[in-house]
Amino acid sequence: MTPEIYLSSPHLGERELQYVQEAFSSNWIAPLGPHVDGFEQDLCATTGASYAAALSSGTAALHLALVLLGVSSGDEVMCQSFTFAASANPILYQGATPIFIDSETTTWNICPDTLETALKDRIARGKRPKAVIVVHLYGMPARMAEILDICQRYEIPLIEDAAEALGSAYQGKPCGTLGKLAVLSFNGNKIITTSGGGALLSNDEALIKKARFLATQARDPAPHYEHSVVGYNYRMSNVCAAIGRGQLAVLETRVAQRRANFERYVKRLKPLPGVDFQPEPDGFFSNRWLSCITVDPELSDGVTREDIRLALAEQRIEARPLWKPMHQQPVFARAPFYGSSVSERLFENGLCIPSGSNLTTGQLNKIMACIEETFSLPQDQRLPSQTA
Ligand SMILES: *Cc1c(COP(=O)(O)O)cnc(C)c1O
Repeated sequence: MTPEIYLSSPHLGERELQYVQEAFSSNWIAPLGPHVDGFEQDLCATTGASYAAALSSGTAALHLALVLLGVSSGDEVMCQSFTFAASANPILYQGATPIFIDSETTTWNICPDTLETALKDRIARGKRPKAVIVVHLYGMPARMAEILDICQRYEIPLIEDAAEALGSAYQGKPCGTLGKLAVLSFNGNKIITTSGGGALLSNDEALIKKARFLATQARDPAPHYEHSVVGYNYRMSNVCAAIGRGQLAVLETRVAQRRANFERYVKRLKPLPGVDFQPEPDGFFSNRWLSCITVDPELSDGVTREDIRLALAEQRIEARPLWKPMHQQPVFARAPFYGSSVSERLFENGLCIPSGSNLTTGQLNKIMACIEETFSLPQDQRLPSQTA
């Protein structure tokens, strides 16, 4: 199926083309260049982070974060289980072991109590984890005060995976400025895009300088090519950064548009039996990158998120189950997991619905009408579920 309405499609503003034309007319098509420097400055200005390195992807940024923290073969890294695989894959790139932690229900992100239990247990077993990776899922900040307190007490550096959370804030502080290092993504489906790209943020200048060094093949100062450590080709190109500068200029509008989508969904769909939404506790501000609903089959007269997904697909409307937890993924089958079934239940009952900042009122109404209709159909007239 080619969707007619996508989950989250790129949304261009007015300045991207002008910046890209600048890159072309100055023949600065190579990696690095004035737009990369400018984009890094713009990222710092937008988030309040002191330093930023623009990179080829969010995944590359996470990988470099682990390298910078000295994560290597045999180490352990704590990671939120309820996330996209890119949060955890770089742990495997380094030959380390992810220790997955369940979520809590007020933000859907890492549970501080479970994190502390797990840390105590790993330390008691003789292994002090090298880092904790927290994710602000779908744009919702995690419970940062509790998480930072734990990381400080156990002296373990915190990496914020803010790939989905540019424009979000916790107690007034932007996501991406709360940990030792933070990761952003500008992939095509994110709240802003460079067509593909990412960034590493920190208040520690030495870390970001080293990130830039590692991301450009780790060339030691010498007239020839001299290398004393392993390098990577992870820098962002000047053309991508040009797009990013145009996109960043409209970030605030994009956040407002996504939050408006969410409000409309809540207003019309929350009255449906068993339907609920990702909460936003006081002091938390989500960019509402994706609007997510949960459907409790015990309250919904048997309607499941799969009934809704299939009904939407029938009308060429893209929707996707919430992230399948990493501890349930075959690739991570051997990784330890701490927690209960919070993330598993969210995966079973949750659905991301179209959330783009460029959705029209007509499209939103079509989506909501389709979901409402699923609830009014008798059970035997709903589309067969995937198990049937
Ligand atoms: C998108 C995403 C990433 C990876 O970013 P890329 O730029 O696609 O490599 C990492 N973590 C989360 C939570 C993401 O959503």
